[in-house]
Amino acid sequence: MKKVAKFGGSSLADAGQFRKAADIIHTDEARVYIVPSAPGKRFDGDTKITDLLYECYELAATGKDFYVPFFTVKDRYNEIIKALGIELSLTDEFEEIEKRLLNLPERDYTASRGEYLNGLIMAKFLGYEFIDAAEVIFFDAEGNFDGAKTYPILGARLEGCSTGAVIPGFYGSMPDGKIHTFSRGGSDITGSIVARACRAAVYENWTDVSGLLMADPHVVENPARIESITYSELRELAYMGASVMHEDAIFPAKSAGIPINIRNTNRPEDSGTWIVGNTARRSKYTITGIAGRKDFCSIVIAKDLMHTEIDFYRKVVQCFEENGIPLEHLPSGIDTLTVIVQESKFIEHEQNVLSRIAKFVEPESVEVEAGISLIAVVGRSMKSQTGTAAKIFKALADARVNVRMIDQGASELNIVIGVLNDDFERAVRAIYRAFVG
Ligand code: ASP
Repeated sequence: MKKVAKFGGSSLADAGQFRKAADIIHTDEARVYIVPSAPGKRFDGDTKITDLLYECYELAATGKDFYVPFFTVKDRYNEIIKALGIELSLTDEFEEIEKRLLNLPERDYTASRGEYLNGLIMAKFLGYEFIDAAEVIFFDAEGNFDGAKTYPILGARLEGCSTGAVIPGFYGSMPDGKIHTFSRGGSDITGSIVARACRAAVYENWTDVSGLLMADPHVVENPARIESITYSELRELAYMGASVMHEDAIFPAKSAGIPINIRNTNRPEDSGTWIVGNTARRSKYTITGIAGRKDFCSIVIAKDLMHTEIDFYRKVVQCFEENGIPLEHLPSGIDTLTVIVQESKFIEHEQNVLSRIAKFVEPESVEVEAGISLIAVVGRSMKSQTGTAAKIFKALADARVNVRMIDQGASELNIVIGVLNDDFERAVRAIYRAFVG
């Protein structure tokens, strides 16, 4: 069975990191399809190649001299090539990039060269075939990933490789042939697409941490690592701010039932985190993880007998929809409905929404409160265990945190709790301690 290994920018930041990646690839002959990012930061304060390339583009597009960042990019690649001791010259490639920056600078094309050049180096170093992502990853005219076109072409191309192959991450091409990129961090998506195209046994995502942690290490000291997490659990945690790879990278692998293994290039002996569709493995603790975000607003709409008005919810939702504000949660009582939205999305349209509600819904009262944090306590084991909610709320009460909102979906995968921003860190720590100790 074949494995796809994607290496992030910090895993390929210099020749030393390239060697570590190559060692990892060579220890398992199933690692045949490699997806590299562009070289990332070598140390704190360093600049990623992709950022330097965006800078080249900005300067070129405004008619300014772009040679300072351009030469920095060139030097970094040449340093890597020299230190790896491979026979490769990127002179022609750099000439082409320079020519295009001078004549008709294109943002996505310029940024994509980070992965393209790194892919050429990686392929040469490994002795693998280089497959330009522009020939196998496609977007439609709107810039959305085109799976129907990509999968058959990419799948056939991979199958036709007699050696392993290197497919640079982050970009592909549009119907007119122009280069288009995913959003930042998008090499993760390419890796997942390649995994789906070749029906890989696993999609390995090599980065600089040993997996996903149960809580944000800026809030909880030294949180435990998550050994296995389901796609759905990860979606919940990622939505609430936990990040380990690009959010959209889950979908291609998920749709083909391919497990994702997050691994650490600097500690390959660590087993990392497994992201899977289903698992009989229980997490060590009742909960899988905790994540949260600050700065939400609650809008509490009260109206006696609102449940007898069949169109009440629709009207409320419409007031937000008309102003382009996505709804996060809608906890309700008998005569109240609370709408939770992101402060940043609400503030600008606040008065429009409130006046619309007043007119359209005719409520008895509307109360708005800002500075709310949402905390998601996520765990697939919750539904088969009693006492989870009790444990959470006892921990919060003991920590003197006032709970402003509670929302539990019927899937019983998570419990979302609203607290004041000032209580956020204390609340997360209290819940973590109650379950993990
Ligand atoms: N190099 C791109 C970025 O910095 C894409 C990636 O690394 O995944 O965003």
